[in-house]
This record gives sequence, structure tokens and C-alpha cells, in this order.
Amino acid sequence: MPEKLTIIGSGPAGWTCAIYAARANLSPLLYEGAISEENRLRNTLPMGQLALTTEVENFPGFPEGIQGPQLMMQMRAQAERFGTRIATEDVVSVDLSRRPFVVNDSAGNTVETMALVVATGASANYLGLESEQRFKNRGVSACAVCDGALPRYRNQPVVVVGGGDSAVEEATYLTKFASVVYVVHRRDKLRASPIMARRLLENPKVKPVWNSVVVEVLGDDDRGMTAVRVKNVVSGELSIIEAPGMFVAIGHTPNTAFLGGQVRCDEKGYIVLTDPFRTATSVEGVFAAGDVADPIYRQAITAAGMGCKAALDAERWLAAGGHH
Ligand code: NAP
Repeated sequence: MPEKLTIIGSGPAGWTCAIYAARANLSPLLYEGAISEENRLRNTLPMGQLALTTEVENFPGFPEGIQGPQLMMQMRAQAERFGTRIATEDVVSVDLSRRPFVVNDSAGNTVETMALVVATGASANYLGLESEQRFKNRGVSACAVCDGALPRYRNQPVVVVGGGDSAVEEATYLTKFASVVYVVHRRDKLRASPIMARRLLENPKVKPVWNSVVVEVLGDDDRGMTAVRVKNVVSGELSIIEAPGMFVAIGHTPNTAFLGGQVRCDEKGYIVLTDPFRTATSVEGVFAAGDVADPIYRQAITAAGMGCKAALDAERWLAAGGHH
């Protein structure tokens, strides 16, 4: 017997989808990803981006805040409580040309499924420096909204890397907490929309560092990150910016490689929803939720909301086809 519904992804979108689908008696199978060294290095271990952060203060229902990994474990437990079956493997490929769809996982198993929800998220791009990896979550972050208000950064100088809308948004957000926000950009002009860029550059706390790239994150085991070494790409000059924090905002990459181009994606790789208010994709019976289909909001709560929508859409689609 094929599965009725298979969910791929174990962030807020995947678990919320599973909670709704399980309570609707769809007995969903959820692929949470494999616990492997390869996934650790790529930041794609189970539980998504929230598992990589520390305190989450903006998820409603937790007035004192909650640790990201704990929030994810609670969502997982809630999904399990209603009968979600969990596979701790990666999905390596799918065949969406056949009905039921075929899902192949990293343990060599093949699963057939009537409906599929893709909730594999997006991974923040990092600079790729060894020193950056060393200080992740101890100064180096890719999410100002997640981490910017933490005591570590309050009234301290911080560095933001990037020149797009995300970098400008993150830098603007950080001006609320930091003493100075250095925006290190590899060119002498921001890519971000002019109105956002102007607002940022007019802020007295913001100091742009043009034509520059971070070449090393400095620090030690006790204090975490303490500074960055910056290179001016025009003059070749090296300098040091003292700061306990660096926020990397150089774009995200949606995790869609395993789809092999069978679902329509935009030029950046985000899955395109046929109706932006719903969760259907270009392939009937395949639904998408969370950051993998959201280049704009990318919040835990919006991902959870989309996961709920995907479960309801999948349930209705299965019922219309007489499968449920
Ligand atoms: P983005 O527009 O692709 O910008 C990425 C920035 O990072 C660019 O300035 C780029 O430099 C720089 N960069 C890329 N790789 C780098 C590297 N290895 N080293 C140093 N710098 C590097 O990405 P985004 O800012 O995340 O935005 C993604 C999409 O979401 C955009 O369409 C954006 O408009 C949208 N968005 C909108 C809002 C909003 O409207 N409120 C907020 C956030 C995002 P170059 O400029 O030299 O290429």
C-alpha cells in the first residue's frame, strides 16, 4: 500500500504539517533528515534552521523565550503523539512522473506516496571561512531577527556582511541593539532597494565599509568571536574591526536539489506556488511549505502557518481523488 502523505523536512513547516495531517488520520510519514557528518557540515541536520539558533523570543506562546532546539523537539513530540511516523534519513531523489510518486531515501529504501509535501527549508549562505565555522553561534550568525537582541550584542559594535535587502534589513534591525553596525560590502554600492538602502545609510549608528570582504573571524575559546579581519578589494589593505558579532546576510539557498528539476522553481531555486495564497506546486499532488517556497518572510511562525495550509490542501486533494 502506498503512503497517503509523505512530508519531507523537519523544521516548523514539516512538523506543523505532520500535526495537522496526523490529526486528520492521514498517518503521515515524515522524513526528518539523516544525522550524518555531511549534514552537520552543511548545516542541514534534522530540525532545520531553528536547531542552529539559541534563544527564540518571537515564537508566540513562549513569553520567556525558548531555545530553538527545544522548540523543535516539542513540535516533533507533538507530531509523534498523533501518530506521525518518522524516518531519520535524507530523501535523495523523487520520481514525480509516476503515480503514486516514488521517494528514494539515503538508506536505500523506496516509498510510494499519493501526496507529497516538500518542507525542506533553505540554508543560509556563509562566507565559507574556517574561522567563521569555528565561531558559529558564538558571535557568527546568519539571522539578526533570531539572535540580534541577545545580551552578547547589546550596546556592542556588530558587523553585517552583504549588500542586498537582507543585509540592509538585518543591519537596520541591529541598530536597535548595537552601538555601531559596520556593513561590510564587497562593492561600493548596495544592491538593496534604494529606499531601504537610504534609510540604512542615514542612520547615525551605521558605518559602511565599502569594497571590502571579511577574510578571517578572530576570537578565542573563552570569549567566542572578538573581531574580523577585513580586506579592501581595491587597495588590498588589511584592517581589523573589533566586534563580538558578525551577521552574514549574503543570501539563502533553498534545499531543492533532490527534486531534480521536476517541480517548477524560480531563478533562485525557490519552489513556485501556483497560487501564492495556497501551497500547490506545478505538480498536482505535490505541495510546498516554509522557507523552501518563501523567499520573503522566512520566519518560524510563517513556515508553521504554511505547513498547516499544506496539510489542509493535501487532505482536500486526497479526498477529492477518493484516497482519503
Ligand atoms: P541578494 O539580493 O542575492 O543579495 C546578496 C548580497 O550578498 C549581495 O549584495 C551580494 O553582493 C552579497 N554576496 C553574495 N555572495 C557574497 C560573498 N560570497 N561574499 C560577500 N558578499 C556576497 O540576497 P538577499 O539580500 O538575501 O535577498 C534575497 C531576495 O529576497 C531578494 O530578491 C530581495 O529583494 C528579497 N528580500 C526582500 C526584502 C524586503 O523587501 N523587505 C528583505 C529581504 C530580502 P553583490 O551585491 O556584489 O552581488
